[in-house]
Amino acid sequence: MIRFICDVGRTQNRPLSYPLFDASAYSIVLYVCVLFLSESGIKRRRYKSKNRKAGKMKQEKSEMKNFDRIIMCNPLVEMDGDEMTRIIWEMIKNILLAPFIELRTEYYDLGIKKRDETNDAITSEAALAIKKYGVGVKCATITPNEDRQEEYGLKQIWKSPNGTIRSILDGTVFRTPIIVNNLKPYVPTWKKPITIARHAFGDIYKDVEFRTEGPGRAELIFSEASGEITKRLTINEFRGGGVVMGMFNLDESIRSFAKTCFSYALDSKLDLWFSAKDTISKIYDRTFRNIFQEVYELEFKEKFKAAGIEYFYSLIDDLVHRVIRSEGGMVWACKNYDGDVMSDLVATIFGSLSMMTSVLVSPEGYYEYEAAHGTVQRHYYRYLKGEKTSTNPMATIFAWTGALKKRGALDGNSRLEDFAEKLEKASLQTIEDGVITGDLNELLTTPDRKVVNTEEFLGEIRKRLEESLDACANRIYTPGGPEKII
Ligand code: NAP
Ligand code: MG
Repeated sequence: MIRFICDVGRTQNRPLSYPLFDASAYSIVLYVCVLFLSESGIKRRRYKSKNRKAGKMKQEKSEMKNFDRIIMCNPLVEMDGDEMTRIIWEMIKNILLAPFIELRTEYYDLGIKKRDETNDAITSEAALAIKKYGVGVKCATITPNEDRQEEYGLKQIWKSPNGTIRSILDGTVFRTPIIVNNLKPYVPTWKKPITIARHAFGDIYKDVEFRTEGPGRAELIFSEASGEITKRLTINEFRGGGVVMGMFNLDESIRSFAKTCFSYALDSKLDLWFSAKDTISKIYDRTFRNIFQEVYELEFKEKFKAAGIEYFYSLIDDLVHRVIRSEGGMVWACKNYDGDVMSDLVATIFGSLSMMTSVLVSPEGYYEYEAAHGTVQRHYYRYLKGEKTSTNPMATIFAWTGALKKRGALDGNSRLEDFAEKLEKASLQTIEDGVITGDLNELLTTPDRKVVNTEEFLGEIRKRLEESLDACANRIYTPGGPEKII
């Protein structure tokens, strides 16, 4: 524990000592603790610790002797977060990334304490940095409420960081499950991931609503900028108690949602399905449908044809039938509420929220990757008590690999893309070999399994990653070979 905390603050650009493979680690920690008790022990501890770290670095180097760490030409925007995911974040960097990549990141600490300290300015700064560098990766963060305000002594209940980032980037959230062959979805026909694209703006999330207890008329009124009332519709003549709601959306927001969905589908070479309920909502939902069709005809029809992919619209009821009977492997664009519900449904059918990735894509082409789950608060409290937790790091690993792949693609850095692919494969292979975290225990379809804690799980991934990097060492390291490193 002590040694891990020491490692946490180290620079991102050199190999870090790797606690997992040190058989004598625990005896050393014990020894270190005893030395802590005496004044003179402090000096000796420093000396020993220095030597031990040097020794481990040497070991690390010899393990990696064939591996020139990958250079990044441009940085990623790295947004650190809270609680258990913050701990996992550091472990992933130490164990899976820094030994292989000269990590270049512009670091923003979005942990709740730093947000409070900066009056939340750090969140907007991070979002603006994504606009500058194009790609960001974010750890899960606490969205404060009254309990959290008390727990952390916050100056105020700050807004959701994701909401702030989304409003600056104006993006669409795409959620995709991570699929492994020994975790069967509840829908047996689903073989490929289904990506839910949720229009995260307007509708009931920005509604106004009220209750009426007695008889009366509810009306919908529109007054022009001049004040002149040009539209007036009766919603209902109430005879008794009831509820009323008003909501809206904007052409501009729907259009950028549509563009982002088409671009994402084209990028990932997947069909795009869009659903709404325009038979019932003949103006509101019909507007969504029309704008999607318009964007498709004007900008994407030819490109979709060339890529061999399809776009089609259908009523949400019909699309639910089609999705359930499909093999998966499409992007399903949903209105705000539909996307909220359907992404939870898809996550549950595929297994677990801990196996769901999320990427925010802006219409200008900025990308922000993260896990779909939160900070796993309950596990963190156990961690604070000194317990080893078996928290699943898959979605956070895939947030990193997604960001690294995108960075690689934008910079023409195929080594980086290749590494991220291999890290994903090593992670999937680990689960497929039956090495899992506790949350997957109930869901696994094969009898052979070994439930491990988070650190051990990352160590198992690392073993497989090293094997896969060794296996193609010649291809990666051939000087002057086909790999162009910029
Ligand atoms: P959560 O962190 O997603 O966790 C809910 C439960 O799901 C956990 O207690 C755990 O169940 C299980 N779980 C989630 N991720 C897991 C993983 N990686 N490995 C194993 N089990 C996992 O949701 P929450 O506890 O409701 O929220 C905690 C904090 O996260 C809140 O402050 C919330 O504001 C924040 N949050 C942030 C984001 C974000 O930044 N994107 C998203 C959602 C929530 P068991 O305890 O049964 O093992
Ligand atoms: Mg939901």
